[in-house]
Amino acid sequence: METLNVMETPEELLVRLLEQNGWEWRTLVKIMNRTYHASYEIPQLKAMYQAAKLKAKQDEVSKETLGRRAVMQKYVCALCGYVYDPEEGDTDGGIAQGTAFEDLPDDWVCPICGAAKELFEAE
Ligand SMILES: [Zn+2]
Repeated sequence: METLNVMETPEELLVRLLEQNGWEWRTLVKIMNRTYHASYEIPQLKAMYQAAKLKAKQDEVSKETLGRRAVMQKYVCALCGYVYDPEEGDTDGGIAQGTAFEDLPDDWVCPICGAAKELFEAE
């Protein structure tokens, strides 16, 4: 039987729930969406629901930021200093704009000095 820790803030309780169950914030929001409508008169529950919604939104934003950073990662040729910019691509080499370095064909080489892909480093 679990005892209720009265010193625990709604947010601390949420974090504990998440860790115990391995949920993501958005999972918790979904669960609370159901519970909340049945018990919206409980202020603590309302506070928890609002905190979870905020966290889920922050999760979303940080995932987006991470994704954008990965796509935009530039790589520098260790031999000549040419910078591969995914936004620019390598149109002369048949690489479309918006192609991530990771998605370049294995036989792609530096358009300036002909160095292999392995010789490029993240900027
Ligand atoms: Zn080069």
